Amino acid sequence: MIEVSNVSRLFGEFRAVDDISFSIKTGEIVGLLGPNGAGKTTTMRMIAGFLDSSSGFVKIDGIDVKENPVKTKSKIGYMPESAPMYSDMIVADYLEYIANVEGQDPTEKLPHLVEICGLKEVMHKNIGELSRGNKQRVGLAHALMNDPEILILDEPTSGLDPNQVSEVRELIKKIGETRTVIISTHILSEVEMLCNRVIIISGGKKVADSSTEELRTHYGNTSEVIVLTGGTEDIVKSKFASIQGSAGVKVSAVDGKIQSAITVEGNAEIRPEVAKVCVDAGIPLYEMQLKKNSLEDVFKILTEAK
Ligand code: ATP
Repeated sequence: MIEVSNVSRLFGEFRAVDDISFSIKTGEIVGLLGPNGAGKTTTMRMIAGFLDSSSGFVKIDGIDVKENPVKTKSKIGYMPESAPMYSDMIVADYLEYIANVEGQDPTEKLPHLVEICGLKEVMHKNIGELSRGNKQRVGLAHALMNDPEILILDEPTSGLDPNQVSEVRELIKKIGETRTVIISTHILSEVEMLCNRVIIISGGKKVADSSTEELRTHYGNTSEVIVLTGGTEDIVKSKFASIQGSAGVKVSAVDGKIQSAITVEGNAEIRPEVAKVCVDAGIPLYEMQLKKNSLEDVFKILTEAK
């Protein structure tokens, strides 16, 4: 169980993380989502015990990270976004070295890690020669060395090509079957694919915390009807605004026509009325399309509001 309670982090005057609280139960796979600079890395580093909070506390299984960092670190595997590695070392030597540093027996540990992280083919290569995807695999093996109950992965798929991305995601899924995982990303589809819960951070604050499904149902229930008509902006706007179930209209001129985005209240079906209003008012109707808010839109709504 991870407990983050009213945690803030200041860098000088700048508040990178601002009064964030959440708890994560054992076995959850949680996505920490937010735009660049939102405070994801700072939050993860505070949980992992690599950075002190300015206020608030983080507890791992009831143990305060600041009071007993050795104990809490022993429960955590942390993979930073760009894991520092010795590029002149071969993979096998590097992992053996990490095992020794962490007080583990390499002969006992490495075969299993090589197997789950898919490192067999690259064990005798120089780290500097590895593709970014394989470097991430080595980073994961490093993070898993102490067989942690909690795995914290900072943007593990950033900079990977599409094939590497899906390989690393599969690997994380497999590893997540037996562990608590926190993964930061700004890719929504990644969260949908890997996580059962998402915490969205924007401007250092927590702006959402729910299951991906709830998030979509709650915020994504909104939809828009996009209409392309003739007429003038003022008339079209006032006609569409008067339709029952319309919660707002934005109009713009597009190639000599008027494009209207009508925000729909709840699940109202306004399309027949839109068509009727156009016919009654003699406004030429060229196109009409219902657009449901995707999770991508939800993310934009939540993070742009800050
Ligand atoms: P990204 O997706 O770009 O990695 P992030 O959400 O992980 O972003 P953080 O790295 O946590 O964001 O940074 C949050 C804010 O804190 C940023 O504005 C960053 O510049 C600032 N920041 C982070 N570390 C420091 C530091 N050591 N000193 C000063 N400012 C910092």
